[in-house]
Amino acid sequence: MSLNKVIYLDNNATTPVDPEVLEAMLPYFKESFANAASFSHEPGRKVFAAVEEAREKIAKVIGAEGKDIIFTSGATESINLAIKGVAKFYQEKGKHIITSMIEHKAVLGSCEELAEMGFRVDYLNVDKKGLIDFDKLQKLIGSETILVSLQHANNEIGTVQDIYKIGELCRSHGVLFHLDAAQSFGKLPIDVDKMKIDLLAISGHKIYGPKGIGALYVRRKNPRVRLKSQMQGGLQEREMRAGTLNVPGIIGLGKAAEIASKNMGNEQEKLRLMTDYIMSELKNNLERVSFNGGLGQELPGNLSVSVGGIDARELLCGLPKLAMSTGSACTSALMEPSHVLRAVGVKGELAEGTFRIGMGRMTTMAEVEFATKWIILKIKELQKR
Ligand SMILES: *Cc1c(COP(=O)(O)O)cnc(C)c1O
Repeated sequence: MSLNKVIYLDNNATTPVDPEVLEAMLPYFKESFANAASFSHEPGRKVFAAVEEAREKIAKVIGAEGKDIIFTSGATESINLAIKGVAKFYQEKGKHIITSMIEHKAVLGSCEELAEMGFRVDYLNVDKKGLIDFDKLQKLIGSETILVSLQHANNEIGTVQDIYKIGELCRSHGVLFHLDAAQSFGKLPIDVDKMKIDLLAISGHKIYGPKGIGALYVRRKNPRVRLKSQMQGGLQEREMRAGTLNVPGIIGLGKAAEIASKNMGNEQEKLRLMTDYIMSELKNNLERVSFNGGLGQELPGNLSVSVGGIDARELLCGLPKLAMSTGSACTSALMEPSHVLRAVGVKGELAEGTFRIGMGRMTTMAEVEFATKWIILKIKELQKR
């Protein structure tokens, strides 16, 4: 392994495009460039067929059908469409929405906008591991509740919620359940029927597909989910999302979904072993180290580490050959712990010393060994000062 190469350990932020995915996309930039809505000619019909095939591949990963899949520009748009689209369609029925404190900003922002429009939003607390307060959820659901929106796996600390239990509760009350599966789709098993999921957001670039493509699963029966389109224009995507389809992106997402589900078991096993290795090395060689959330075992490959006596930004700056991220948003000189870390009680000095390691499909054990060695050396150096 070349010592000059940067070791990429930020796979929860984004993943590289799998070479097979890129290969599958290329023809759709070149000879197969037609509009998927152009039924009047053969090139258009061919592209349409390829898009429908991609739809089927994506649906298959979550036990759904192709027709249930709406293409968007990414999980952010899918989430906005799910939350605002459902809220605006069902507002006559009620104006109450439930979510949690550790959601992605796309969820929190959509809910804030609805709150400004007169919707009532409740934010569930989480415990130290990042698991939502289920009893509280049960108590909060009322006759006005139209939607529960929660994430499957957290992007910072990797916590995985008990979706079966939550889905069951929502369905038994006739409340729609939206799942932000940006981190888990293609990585953890999902079955929208068994888990009673009504809407589910997917991102291309978190599963070795391209950026700028995503999908929203929208249940068509038992119950049929309706939503109000958030963009006006053509009648694409069951009239739920206007705009010419991003065909190369869709083909890439389809291929990425297919590869992910084929490799799911092996890949997660590899990532678990790597995570275990880093955890035990850090624990055995360092003082004042702890792990946040699901303890690195739930969303394989994701590890949130807190180290006492260091500033994680200094650690990352001191390790220019490692690409990782801190657990804090840097607002100028001031260090603000992220809303997720705050929610699980990681504060002050510990929040300052928090960083995230995100391993993925392309990560090798040799890279993990190098990275771990460097991280330990640098932390020891910083703790000594
Ligand atoms: C990345 C991510 C999103 C946003 O996805 P984009 O496709 O980048 O818009 C939403 N939720 C979670 C949990 C994520 O990790």
